[in-house]
Amino acid sequence: MMQLESKIYVAGHRGMVGAAVVNRLTALGYQNFLLRTRSELDLCNQAAVEQFFNEQRPEVVVFAAARVGGILANSTYPAEFIYQNLAMASNSIHAAWKSGTQRFLFLGSTCIYPRLAPQPIPENCLLSSPLEPTNEAYAIAKIAGLKLCEFYRRQYGVQFHSAMPTNLYGPGDNYHPQHSHVLPGLIRRFHDAKVSGADSVTIWGTGSPLREFLHVDDLAAGIVHLLQLSDPPDLVNLGSGMEISILDLARLVAAVVGFPGAITHDYSKPDGTPRKLCDISRIRETGWAPRISLEEGIRSSYQNFLAELESQQLRSV
Ligand code: GDP
Repeated sequence: MMQLESKIYVAGHRGMVGAAVVNRLTALGYQNFLLRTRSELDLCNQAAVEQFFNEQRPEVVVFAAARVGGILANSTYPAEFIYQNLAMASNSIHAAWKSGTQRFLFLGSTCIYPRLAPQPIPENCLLSSPLEPTNEAYAIAKIAGLKLCEFYRRQYGVQFHSAMPTNLYGPGDNYHPQHSHVLPGLIRRFHDAKVSGADSVTIWGTGSPLREFLHVDDLAAGIVHLLQLSDPPDLVNLGSGMEISILDLARLVAAVVGFPGAITHDYSKPDGTPRKLCDISRIRETGWAPRISLEEGIRSSYQNFLAELESQQLRSV
């Protein structure tokens, strides 16, 4: 089990999830971190990853490194999404096992589940029917990663396990107007519209798809909770358990930002999967529950957005 002095490698510590995990662990008194930026360690480079694990021998790994993006980025760059995520996962999991890492928590997303999964989505519907085509490349790579953890655990007895977060948001998010996920994308566009005095903001698709959102600080608490379990589940969902339509989400963002204009639709953009709510009973049974409501989370995220904009640290890629 993880101890306060354990050597912890957080892969992807500059990303939204990795940064929130480091903050949470630090707040709890953990301080023996191993961190590498992408330029210091290219996780797609197998030899470099093996050397890093052999030299540093982390005891605990939180794998929050990924090539991620919204619906448009995923469907435009499927080759990069499958290759990079697959290479990063297999290089790291194998090198961790070989170098003696006992605990490895692999993170993915709930898009690993079938497009027409039962709702709320239980973990056991994995691989029961076809995936959503707009993010299939990413999903296949993440499914391979979680299966690597499951099989290494089964065959070698190491505690390698996985958690699949729902749609996330919070400090350090990517606010690119086109390439981001819906919530940061909407915060950005409603803010820009308010500043420029525009009459309307256009959202993509019909607005009827239902999505679930989890604040990244809630996720980080869930990740630390999982790392402290002596017999964690192989695969577990991490979500808020609450869903909202994209149109209602847009109205909520407009209200928080203070944009008084109209909301229109761009029907040429894809809706993606019609509904995506995860079943969080498995993680609840282990004693974790989300705490941050969507409205409260959007309010604090808008404040984070303004602060990041002001200090010229806003991510928009
Ligand atoms: P998904 O959850 O994997 O489908 O990814 P997204 O977060 O990118 O999109 C979620 C839903 O929000 C889809 O139905 C999009 O069409 C819709 N949407 C509406 N406006 C936007 C926007 O400005 N950006 C994004 N990324 N999605 C939007």
